[in-house]
Amino acid sequence: MDEITPPPADQNADFPAGGDGTRATGSAPRRRSARRGRRWWKILLVALVAVLAATVGGVALAYPSLAATTCPGCYGLTELRPGLHVEDGLTEAQHGRAREVADQAARRVTGFYGTRLSSPDLLVCLTESCYRRIGGGRERGVAVLNRSVMLSPRGLDPVIASHEMSHVELHARLTSAAAVPQWFDEGLAVVVADDPRYLTPQPAPASAPDRCLVAPSGQPLPVTLEEWLRAASADPATYARSACQVSRWLDGHGGRAGLLDLITRLNAGEPFATLVRM
Ligand SMILES: [Zn+2]
Repeated sequence: MDEITPPPADQNADFPAGGDGTRATGSAPRRRSARRGRRWWKILLVALVAVLAATVGGVALAYPSLAATTCPGCYGLTELRPGLHVEDGLTEAQHGRAREVADQAARRVTGFYGTRLSSPDLLVCLTESCYRRIGGGRERGVAVLNRSVMLSPRGLDPVIASHEMSHVELHARLTSAAAVPQWFDEGLAVVVADDPRYLTPQPAPASAPDRCLVAPSGQPLPVTLEEWLRAASADPATYARSACQVSRWLDGHGGRAGLLDLITRLNAGEPFATLVRM
């Protein structure tokens, strides 16, 4: 954080040029009062910046993603329909694809939960330069602060979109105090998205005991976001293992009903570790 630089003794630069002469050359008490006012404004601004930095510092994505999801139009995106923002200059066919992906992804989330409590804004880029501009990286898509989803040119797909929307939906259903480990959040997103990279298609063949492509290794799965990012980038099978674990848990607990019950009990203050034993 920058230190507060005291203003020069009699600077009036913040008065508008050509403005009211009496303000710029006012009496001594009025000048002192103006200086005090300016100082308080600076202190307030610095405090505000500090609070913002602290808030944003706690999440994986910061400015400009936060700014882009707050004002997509400021980052070269057009609102195709309420809640769906796409890169400027796309063709009609590309617009159609964006609508289709948004609709299919919403149907997957609703189909899984029965209802949908969240309706995150979707920000869709079809060029890497657009995606970088709104703060994206090498990922295909990402949920931002549980209120928006950004899709890269590699993520305009119902699987990726519904995966990210699943994160938003789960967190919309959890009270702020309730928490699930990252492996559960990610594994559930794979199940909701029905991602064929990590689970066999639904329903599992009668001959198969479950939908797992990779069985958990017996090692604990990543709990925090930091642990998850480290593990998943070192070993892509982390998604498949987590999805297997969540899929097996759902099979053994009545699927949707079991998940909704889990959410209710987490919101009532019961710890995850006592509710989900694998
Ligand atoms: Zn995810």
